[in-house]
Amino acid sequence: MFVDIAKIRIKAGDGGNGAVSFHREKYVANGGPDGGDGGRGGNVVFQADTNLSTLLDFRYKRRFIAENGENGKSARCTGKSAPDLVIKVPLGTLIKEAETGRILADISTHEPVIVARGGKGGWGNQHFATPTRQIPRFAKPGLPGEAYEVTLELKLLADVGLVGFPNVGKSTLVSMVSEAKPKIANYHFTTLTPVLGVVKIAEGKNFVMADIPGLIEGASEGIGLGHEFLRHVERCRLNVHVVDVSGCEGRDPIEDFETINRELETFNADLAARPMIVAANKCDMATDEQIENFRKYVEAKGLPYYPISAATRQGVDALVNAIAAMLDTLPPILQYEPEPMPIPQEPEGKRNFTIRVEDGVYFVEADWLLSTLGMVDPEDYESLQYLQRVLIKSGIIEELENMGINEGDTVSILDFEFDYIK
Ligand code: GDP
Ligand code: MG
Repeated sequence: MFVDIAKIRIKAGDGGNGAVSFHREKYVANGGPDGGDGGRGGNVVFQADTNLSTLLDFRYKRRFIAENGENGKSARCTGKSAPDLVIKVPLGTLIKEAETGRILADISTHEPVIVARGGKGGWGNQHFATPTRQIPRFAKPGLPGEAYEVTLELKLLADVGLVGFPNVGKSTLVSMVSEAKPKIANYHFTTLTPVLGVVKIAEGKNFVMADIPGLIEGASEGIGLGHEFLRHVERCRLNVHVVDVSGCEGRDPIEDFETINRELETFNADLAARPMIVAANKCDMATDEQIENFRKYVEAKGLPYYPISAATRQGVDALVNAIAAMLDTLPPILQYEPEPMPIPQEPEGKRNFTIRVEDGVYFVEADWLLSTLGMVDPEDYESLQYLQRVLIKSGIIEELENMGINEGDTVSILDFEFDYIK
């Protein structure tokens, strides 16, 4: 079964907790703090696997959870970091955050891509000794790993996409010019899954052609078959629009052509704007008048026109050469860039949090701070300003003041630590 869309949950591992421990040795009194750091949680990584051609596996397994990092131990022993969890997907899989549709990664090369980052391990108490705080009885908890619900969308990697009504001869054309053997028959929607064919032009030079199921009117709105397949031509560099110029099914080639173009436009305007070559097929059954009338119409639109007969191969080589020549002038196959996380809204008014004091350090805790801090770059002034505004608006600064914090005291928020300045 061909499955080209799936929704799964991924969760990277949490970081291990830092340890609280003190050096103990015979005859050595009051050993210093030696609690080790927690290990890093495992990342969730996606990698292309050329043996896979569908997302079928994800019908059956929908949860992917990487292991947590180990807790730190005494004697400055760092906990073990967890291994990455590698998820194999077909080449061309786009990974989006389900809730927002934000693109997280495009697995269109063989590079592995980290999509959910494992949490950092917490620091052990070995890091917290200062001249005034010689016995730190605290350590940092590990940070949680990122978790997402993601949609996987397979968008095949092909140079050329064949578009057109059902039964116009798209599959016949692919089977003529490549080794691919899509199903061909004289009824609509024979092709139920996209098929990729490699078209060899010369030694070491080829391009990939995608045969997708035919489109019908309303396909872009999900009526009938076709809509779900348009995503497979979205990356293509060039559309070849196959039209039955003989009108052997009682339809008019010009109407067909316009209908399909409207469908492309409605689905994705970028897709409709892609360069296009028109292949007028079934010339063996068409009259010269039909072929020439359609030629006038197509050429008036400034589009290249190739009359062919896919079944007899007449005109097919000229078409293939024209495709290859045009591809030479076009940009590479579309790859999608990951989109950055949107800046979260600054909290309006006070929020829930807890503050506890241990050994003169003010520990601030709140779930919502996690996402805020994920955004803060301690090296960046703007970013720190943002954090400060959040701390003021949420009431944290006010509470610290009420608790009697002094200039120079340490404030600790998750893995972030700074000196309080009034
Ligand atoms: P698709 O639905 O666009 O993939 O169309 P197919 O390739 O499955 O072809 C539909 C029907 O048209 C089949 O019966 C083919 O044999 C026939 N056909 C395809 N190309 C030609 C052609 O150039 N001439 C003629 N006479 N028939 C063709
Ligand atoms: Mg077909």
